[in-house]
Amino acid sequence: MIKIKEIPVGNIFSKTSYRGYSYVINPYTGCASGCMFCHACFMQQFTNHIDENWGEFIDVKRWDGIVRTKRTVKDRNILMSTVTDPYNPIEKEYKNTRYILERLQEIGCNLTVCTRSDLVLRDLDILKDMKANVVISVNTLDENFVKGCENTTPIQDRLKALKKLHDEGIYTILSVSPIFPYITDFEEIIETSKDYINEYWFENLNLRQPYKETVLNFIQHTYPEYTEQYNNIYIEKDNEYWFFLKHNIMRYCQKNNLKYKIDFRHS
Ligand code: SF4
Repeated sequence: MIKIKEIPVGNIFSKTSYRGYSYVINPYTGCASGCMFCHACFMQQFTNHIDENWGEFIDVKRWDGIVRTKRTVKDRNILMSTVTDPYNPIEKEYKNTRYILERLQEIGCNLTVCTRSDLVLRDLDILKDMKANVVISVNTLDENFVKGCENTTPIQDRLKALKKLHDEGIYTILSVSPIFPYITDFEEIIETSKDYINEYWFENLNLRQPYKETVLNFIQHTYPEYTEQYNNIYIEKDNEYWFFLKHNIMRYCQKNNLKYKIDFRHS
């Protein structure tokens, strides 16, 4: 059962140094998708949700539509979102992301939208008009793996959404994220999708507290054959796997003339 609250906010823009963007917009606090590996769960500490479980609360940020940032957001690079999914399951009913998109459409800015959901297709009219970029995350083609750790759109529907977006002229980015060691097959994902993807992003699985133990337990029960390797990476802090993977991704993307970005972080 998800606890939903509507919270009025005076400002929806947060300044950021993330990847060349000026501002990020998170239409929600929390995320009803509740992925087991979500790095955004640190938000609980800063938003009075410390006693709740990630995925079981969400605040809908009700913005009045007035831009209060000192520097205008017009023509700026804006990223939506970094610590929630703008198309998480409750967006279908609350349409908060759509409301914000309508305001951004009036203002005019360079928008990049990140999601794990095909609900993004609902807003194709605005995204096309704004010439927005759309990023959809896919870290496996195995639907059972997804069912085990996310409450999101099936992989095949995400891939269909990317194809549709591309066919409609949207710049498509597939984010292979998070890469689960020995499970995520980046070549397989690229080979399946390369006809309709403009750019690939790669992010590693970076396990922090409080979800580190949950993910390691999940691996131990679901993929016991990788327990030792995961302990080596996440307990012994051996980054050799990531070093070689980064090298392989670069070599593969360069050989196949693919546009790509790699963002590996280690706790
Ligand atoms: S959809 Fe994204 S923001 Fe939401 S829980 Fe999953 S990883 Fe976190």
